[in-house]
Amino acid sequence: MTHKQTQEKQNNSSDRTRSFGAMTWRTLKDHAILPTPANFELLYTHFSGANRALSERLISYFGQGRIFSSDETDALYDEFIRQDADLEPLDKRTNQIAQVAQGILQQVSDNQNALKGYGDVLKHSVARMAAPTSVESLLTIVAALRDETAQAALRNSALEHELSASTDRINKLQQNLIQTRQEASTDTLTAIANRKAFDAELRRCLRQAKASPTTTFSIIMLDVDHFKRFNDTHGHRMGDHVLRLVGRLLSDNVKGRDTAARYGGEEFAIILADADLNAAMTVAEQIRGRLSTQRVIRRGTGETIGQITISAGVAQHRLGESSASLIERADAALYEAKRSGRNKVCRAGDETLAS
Ligand code: GH3
Ligand code: MG
Ligand code: MG
Repeated sequence: MTHKQTQEKQNNSSDRTRSFGAMTWRTLKDHAILPTPANFELLYTHFSGANRALSERLISYFGQGRIFSSDETDALYDEFIRQDADLEPLDKRTNQIAQVAQGILQQVSDNQNALKGYGDVLKHSVARMAAPTSVESLLTIVAALRDETAQAALRNSALEHELSASTDRINKLQQNLIQTRQEASTDTLTAIANRKAFDAELRRCLRQAKASPTTTFSIIMLDVDHFKRFNDTHGHRMGDHVLRLVGRLLSDNVKGRDTAARYGGEEFAIILADADLNAAMTVAEQIRGRLSTQRVIRRGTGETIGQITISAGVAQHRLGESSASLIERADAALYEAKRSGRNKVCRAGDETLAS
């Protein structure tokens, strides 16, 4: 990419950020939604087009002319945004973004006359966004807004300087936030989801199951067999290598909205969205089977140093069941798999499945 292209890309990105920020603040104001960091993030995410399900919900709410209570925005935030927002550094960053955006709003309102035409376009676009006929039409509106924002910036060169400094800062903070969120939810050894991300995803699945009782999901708890012995024989470093391999095997065997996580130590866990017990048993069996046919080979010499097996317990979520009970049932099935010889998969509340 040439320097000019890079510059253009950055300018476009600044324009977009400014446009999303302006739409967010305008909507907070027009709908009398409290300008908290969480509400800012909720609407910014919607306008940026990063979360389609959230946008569909919000557009239908806007279309109904709904009044947003704090309970309502909290529930939307929980459903669509919250992952690990209880983490202190994330809260701090979200706050910083909101502060910068608040600054922009201030600048815009201080320059209301200069920006009058632009403000009208914003308002008009937000109104059109309330009832788009398709995602395509939404994209067209957003593209028009972006162009109008760039034009407004050109017409107001004094303000442009301040605005682009602020929006660059928002851009950086937002990228930072995305990265921090990513790091906070990833296990450093295996690079798959960590326990915290698993717990958050499980909470989300429980909420979804409650909201639409016809959907179901299942979990698999997995534990490497005789791993202490493997570590004692081949060393901790080789043990770490094996955990990375298991992590990769798990993520290779789940898809789409499923979550494969390191639950702790040599224990792993999987959430299978939309899967009933039989479907989850098939996935668990597939993972167990694939691992049992692999051999751990020492790099360099090619020497086979051992075989790793895994045991698993599978449980399907029951209507109204708590996460603790679901995990307990999957754990009991895992214990049964261990007890009956390892390298096995057992279903919760059922007989051992022969391997
Ligand atoms: P079981 O088949 O009953 O599960 O036997 P096990 O030996 O796997 O179970 P146990 O709980 O006795 O031991 C787990 C071992 O996992 C002990 C610990 O050293 C090892 N382990 C836990 N976390 C890590 C890690 O991050 N790296 C390595 N290399 N080993 C780990
Ligand atoms: Mg264990
Ligand atoms: Mg073990």
